[in-house]
Amino acid sequence: MGDSATESNAQLCCESCGEKDAASMEFTHCVSIGVPPRFGYYKEHPTRRFLCHKHAASACLWHCFKNSLFGCWGFPGIFLAPVRTWGNIRAVKERFTVGFGFTAVAMTIGTFPAGFLAILIGLVLARS
Ligand SMILES: [Zn+2]
Repeated sequence: MGDSATESNAQLCCESCGEKDAASMEFTHCVSIGVPPRFGYYKEHPTRRFLCHKHAASACLWHCFKNSLFGCWGFPGIFLAPVRTWGNIRAVKERFTVGFGFTAVAMTIGTFPAGFLAILIGLVLARS
């Protein structure tokens, strides 16, 4: 990444495999722990990539996974991580045809900690 050969090809083909049918898109994952600014940390990490359909899909899933791994453990990440996950899916959908299955899998990967926390809170409330 970042060498001159990659840079000159960046507008022409997929940066991972060289496939000609590629497009530019931006993926974002966020890191959220606690409640910033005093009791936590929140930062968004946008990345612009130039990828073919296959690599766009896997990069999207990877960023959705990072959203769920790092993005859901504080405020405002608990609300924004699913929004960023949806944004990552939209970035792929705008350039390539993706099925409902891909959207469902990516959303599940990107939001399961939030759903998991909601279930835990529900269980705690139900037991008390
Ligand atoms: Zn590719």
